[in-house]
Amino acid sequence: MRKNVAAGNWKMHTTVQEASLLAGQLNALLDAKNVGENTRVILGVPFTHIAVVGQVVNRNLISIAAQNCAAEEKGAFTGEVSAEMLKSAGCDAVILGHSERRAYYGETDEIIKTKISLTLKNDMQAIFCCGEVLEEREKENHFNIVKAQIENALFDFSAEDMKSIVIAYEPVWAIGTGKTASAEQAQEMHGFIRQTLAKKFGQEVADNCSILYGGSVKPANAKEIFAKPDVDGGLVGGAALNAESFHAICLAF
Ligand code: PEP
Repeated sequence: MRKNVAAGNWKMHTTVQEASLLAGQLNALLDAKNVGENTRVILGVPFTHIAVVGQVVNRNLISIAAQNCAAEEKGAFTGEVSAEMLKSAGCDAVILGHSERRAYYGETDEIIKTKISLTLKNDMQAIFCCGEVLEEREKENHFNIVKAQIENALFDFSAEDMKSIVIAYEPVWAIGTGKTASAEQAQEMHGFIRQTLAKKFGQEVADNCSILYGGSVKPANAKEIFAKPDVDGGLVGGAALNAESFHAICLAF
């Protein structure tokens, strides 16, 4: 059975000291009131925080993700951080293809595919982000856009590989804007994504793939969104920077 996932994306926020405090607060809250057995909590932290956060939290309660990795295995790529380095620092997963990386750093589906491949090769889970911008939704082209992103980035992987891939549908117009997709809009797209996976990889792969919604998820709307049959949790930005808010979201299944 597929897992429910509450994944925080801290983006470029917090110093190491603040991160340590925040992770410790969340850990204490989860320790007092934990999620159900079928729910996984992941923190997507900056590279510099992976080792410290890894020491602060109980790894049975919280998994750790990076927010990116290099598209090369190793070598003369000054400033880059490889998937192998992330694994050795204690990472369990890598968030890949976030719309901010696509928009500001020119990441294409082809680059994202390479990064997913390196992530899986290093025994980590890939959290693959997809989603349309506002103009594409207004032109009612959102299904085609998301389908193309999934085809381009994921269709060369095997059914076995898909066991290590989580999909996060994040309509770009809902990220950091306070504008959430309605629970119905989320379900409509998540159902479509699952169908797309079923056509390519078979129903079993589709049924076992966790599909998260991202875009202004908060304690106030998480329950309604997560209740939809094809929504298996959330990728959470702003609300993950507060331990109480994120804890409430973790309990919203
Ligand atoms: C995100 O960073 O992926 C995100 C969805 O951010 P927010 O929850 O702040 O909209």
